Amino acid sequence: MTPSNTVVTRFAPSPSGHLHVGGARTALFCWAYARGRSGKLVLRIEDTDQKRSSDSASVGFARDLKWLGIAWDEGPEFEGCGGGPHGPYFQSERLETYQRYLDQLIASGVAYYAFESPQELTAMREAAKAQNRPFRYTGEVARALPPDRVRAMLAEGRPAVVRFHTPPGAITIVDEVLGTALIPDGETDDFVIRKADGYPTYHFAVVVDDELMGVTHVLRAQEHFNNTAKHIVLQDALGFRRPTYGHLPLIFNPDGSKMSKRDKDKVLRKALVEKGVTEPPTATVTRQRFTAWMADKTMQLELEETMALAEAYQVALPEINVDDFRRSGYLPEVLCNFLSLNGWSPGGDLETFDNEFLASHFDLDRVVKTPAKFDRAKLLAFNLHAIASMPREEFVRRTAAHGAAFHPSFMERLSSEQFSGLCNASHERSKTLDDLFRTNTFITTADDLLVWDSKATRKVLEGGSPSGFHHLKALREVLVTTDDWTVAGLEGVITPYAVRSAEGNLGAVAQPLRVAVSGSTVSPPIFDTLAILGKASALRRIDRCLAHSPATL
Ligand code: GLU
Repeated sequence: MTPSNTVVTRFAPSPSGHLHVGGARTALFCWAYARGRSGKLVLRIEDTDQKRSSDSASVGFARDLKWLGIAWDEGPEFEGCGGGPHGPYFQSERLETYQRYLDQLIASGVAYYAFESPQELTAMREAAKAQNRPFRYTGEVARALPPDRVRAMLAEGRPAVVRFHTPPGAITIVDEVLGTALIPDGETDDFVIRKADGYPTYHFAVVVDDELMGVTHVLRAQEHFNNTAKHIVLQDALGFRRPTYGHLPLIFNPDGSKMSKRDKDKVLRKALVEKGVTEPPTATVTRQRFTAWMADKTMQLELEETMALAEAYQVALPEINVDDFRRSGYLPEVLCNFLSLNGWSPGGDLETFDNEFLASHFDLDRVVKTPAKFDRAKLLAFNLHAIASMPREEFVRRTAAHGAAFHPSFMERLSSEQFSGLCNASHERSKTLDDLFRTNTFITTADDLLVWDSKATRKVLEGGSPSGFHHLKALREVLVTTDDWTVAGLEGVITPYAVRSAEGNLGAVAQPLRVAVSGSTVSPPIFDTLAILGKASALRRIDRCLAHSPATL
């Protein structure tokens, strides 16, 4: 059993999709608060909203938390985390428990069945609006129904919800972040605690579970602050303890908008308009949906559709969920460090720290009240710094793991020597673990399929005096006789050529070579690029490029 003075926090996501960075920050703070006090973190899956829940989303949450290094002590079992005496930890598997407490409230007369249809409720709401008063459900009609009439209506199968009869009086919420708030009498109406489908509402399940799972500290997003009044009246009616509350600031985009999937649709739509796309590629989204979505700026595609279109047109979407950041090559420890600064700081100038530091220093008195602004440029700078500071072997290991997960065909096409050469050439330049893959697709392109059609590459090859093509032709003769095809060996023949033929201007020589072998003006340093490609491939590419040169050369 958990000793009575043990701190117990909980992270309680609704599995409606992927773990959002805001949710990850909540989980991180719950973890840090418990860990820093030798307490426990409970992971509970709030899947009572059947329409939105999915099993794969629950697994996604577990995977994302593990990736961030947030281990839960109790909860669904996943790769060594979880288990515990208070399960099941999926709310959908706890219906009998909720029913027991619900029956208790009905028996004691503080909860009752209500039969108003959605249309009747809408009419009541509209009537209140017409009279310029807020709608508060007080249940005079439902509460006046005699018990045998209620039984008869239930027996007839009339849809009914169960509501809690909120007692009169103001409700005081003591919040460790926001301070004390008084919710005036009458503000909290008779709210639903069991839905017509038989499932408990979020309010009811959360109160029962926080009690039964021994939760001492409820740390959650500020959007739940107003719900706390409902939770408090339920706790009192059920004779439960009151946990300590701390409502955490939300995380917004710098322009003050909510960070949401909508941001992805917006960026994608804009990019596709700019590219003049009017037809979706097959296997992304239906034509009809695509057309509707392009025309309606408020419409959102399913996440899978958005990702498929972005992939097809190489559009970089803003990261919103933890798995987006992972795919984009952010390091989990950097994301945690950065997220914890969204709403908290250790004081002083210290900004770089790990999760263990966070656990030993995190407290609610340094959590800010106002929304945090998610500064992507700062996150990228943190990531760049962390990558640059890691030993080369670690960079190779982590990049290989990232490649295996997200770029398997790239990894398959490179030998281990090529891959380590590419890592050596890319380490200092990498802002993310994904950069190396995104910017070097030319390496895995078949020699015969490389294209040089952009203005920039033509300029490099045709411009200059002598022209880039001229240098390329001359260099080809040098390279064909080069046997030491290594970074040092290539430097040993190309640099002297630049001294001889380009007044020592290595750039004038390197750039045509780069364009010839990579098809673009950006690649790792030229000696590395050639060494990675290998002699046969590099020469084939140079020959194909020269075949495009103007006949006058
Ligand atoms: N399930 C709720 C959510 O995902 C959180 C509830 C809570 O923390 O009390 O927003």
